Amino acid sequence: MRHLVLLLVLAAPLAAQQPDTNAPTQHARPLNLQPALKPPVADTGIFSPVPLPPPNAIRSPDGAPGPGYWQQRADYTLKATLDTAAKRLTGTEQIRYTNNSPDTLRFVWMQLDQNLFRPGSVGSLLFPAESRFGGAGFPGGFDIASLTQTAAPARPAARPANRRRPPPTAAAPAPLRFRVDDTMMYVDLATPIPPGGSTTFDLAYAFNIPEHGADRMGRDGSLYEIAQWYPRMAVYDDVRGWNTDPYLGQGEFYLEYGDIDYEVTLPAGYIVAGSGTLQNPEEVLTAAQRSRLAAAVKSDSTMAIVTPEELASGAARPRTDGTLTWRFRAQRVRDVAWAASPEYQWDASGWDGILAQAYYRPSADATWKDAAKMSRYSILEYSTRWYRYAYPQISAVEGPVSGMEYPMVAMEARGDDLPDLYNVVTHEIGHMWYPMMVGSNERRYAWMDEGFNTFINTFSEEDYWKRDDSDVRRHETRFVTSLDQTPTAQPIMTPANRYRNDDNLGSLAYVKPSIVLLALRNKVLGPEVFDTAFREYTRRWVFKHPQPADFFRTMEEVSGRDLSWFWRGFFFTTAALDQSVETVGPGPDGSTLVTLRSLGAAVMPVELALAFADGTHETVKLPVEIWYGGNRYVYRVERGKQVVSARVNPDGRFPDVVPSNDAWTATPRATP
Ligand SMILES: [Zn+2]
Repeated sequence: MRHLVLLLVLAAPLAAQQPDTNAPTQHARPLNLQPALKPPVADTGIFSPVPLPPPNAIRSPDGAPGPGYWQQRADYTLKATLDTAAKRLTGTEQIRYTNNSPDTLRFVWMQLDQNLFRPGSVGSLLFPAESRFGGAGFPGGFDIASLTQTAAPARPAARPANRRRPPPTAAAPAPLRFRVDDTMMYVDLATPIPPGGSTTFDLAYAFNIPEHGADRMGRDGSLYEIAQWYPRMAVYDDVRGWNTDPYLGQGEFYLEYGDIDYEVTLPAGYIVAGSGTLQNPEEVLTAAQRSRLAAAVKSDSTMAIVTPEELASGAARPRTDGTLTWRFRAQRVRDVAWAASPEYQWDASGWDGILAQAYYRPSADATWKDAAKMSRYSILEYSTRWYRYAYPQISAVEGPVSGMEYPMVAMEARGDDLPDLYNVVTHEIGHMWYPMMVGSNERRYAWMDEGFNTFINTFSEEDYWKRDDSDVRRHETRFVTSLDQTPTAQPIMTPANRYRNDDNLGSLAYVKPSIVLLALRNKVLGPEVFDTAFREYTRRWVFKHPQPADFFRTMEEVSGRDLSWFWRGFFFTTAALDQSVETVGPGPDGSTLVTLRSLGAAVMPVELALAFADGTHETVKLPVEIWYGGNRYVYRVERGKQVVSARVNPDGRFPDVVPSNDAWTATPRATP
């Protein structure tokens, strides 16, 4: 009834405006109320639910892996020879691939990351050869000499009575047809892989080693940093099937877990640092080095494994003529990488049975003498704060790449000074957690890798140097808020390959996720609640493939908060936060009313710093729910307190776009 009354009132002026004198009189005109109806209203505001993919048996509504969770497995055996004269790597590879999905696979995709360095690759057209992600412009890329599949023996049919089961006959390797599409390779299988089945691929391949490999691998004189060095299985998952986003240089990797055995043959004078555990120390290390290593893992302080004197005298190597083969084994890893130099000094110490190592040339000694200590502290810090390091060792390696991370290997350049070096060392080692142990899709969601890592680096750096980096965080906040107002702004959820420029890469992948997570931690949930939730996310998804929704849901379930407004405002959009003090004036019963506004599309709780005429101060914390009713909220200060100034965001740690409207100050009253 009430609606009808309202509509009749609205209809009257519409009829009065009719200019047509032949129009029927109002009482004879059919009653048509349509034009006055208000369009439907949907709940699309900042607080409405974020449309996440619906949970299912694989990914639970609470953000944990569900009872039906599955992921594929890829185990590798790699044998490579480094030809330092030709600057070329030649190798064989065996991949044992297990299909844990419910689907029969008739083809697979592999990643040929070296093809980035082929002339004319998509990445080479986006990033000039001399730019950070460049490197093409020489005859690079994988040469695939052979690719075969050996199918697992079919499961024997039910055995007839009185008949012995025939021994499984090993299938002959079948050559496979494949199609290379830039950095991806489609492989047509000779024998499909059924659900629960496995198969073996054998490849022979080679590539010329680029000097500058998109800042993720390369060489410098006699030193080699070798990564993306073998064809790797693309990830087949429950969300996107085959993940075929190409490698363009900027977006990083998404890889399956497995065990990787690899061996590297190279001139005997080289010292190799690699992912995993060295399997043949008696062949490639001297007796003195082996006994030093055994002592170092129990030592809190840094010990020399290879000294500058040994490098100079030749005693650093068991022999220096011909070649040596270094064998490593890495378990539960998504990748392996290695670095090799005839000039590597080698330091090590231990923490809780984990070897913390540094490899560097004498020319880097000024800062790198502290690198093993930095590695050790980083492992200790992240292990004790978030989740225990799952691997037996960590190696910081010095070279031209600055910086890049692989399981158990952190590549860094020389470093100008110690804080600069720690910044990179602890960042690359932080990646052992995200994404090496928590295996997200970096190419699609760089913030789950670089962003989480930048966030945890905050505590590592402040604790290592015993300093307060608030000014750095405020500087980062201003960088993010100003960038979000540029015409090329993009949201955090943008896939890494599609960042429009370097600033967007810096903000969306690294700085913005870090500063908004710090705000969520320090201002919204509180450190204890946030840290518990973040640890739970890590525990749930270690060695698995989390999606963004799994993170969002875990944070909400553990904190007990609906954070839709936070993800929508800061992850899915570039919504601006603009809190302001509109006015301060007298209220009823001698109170004072402070009128606050939230003028942007994003919201946050409010920290309101009040100063009173009696010289006292107070910081009031108002929850985000104050904005449920709209973008204006009136806070009442009780009788007897005269407000002389009011300021929102007093410590500048919220990403407020317009700081100039944050404060109100009383105008001094003229004396009568
Ligand atoms: Zn990083």
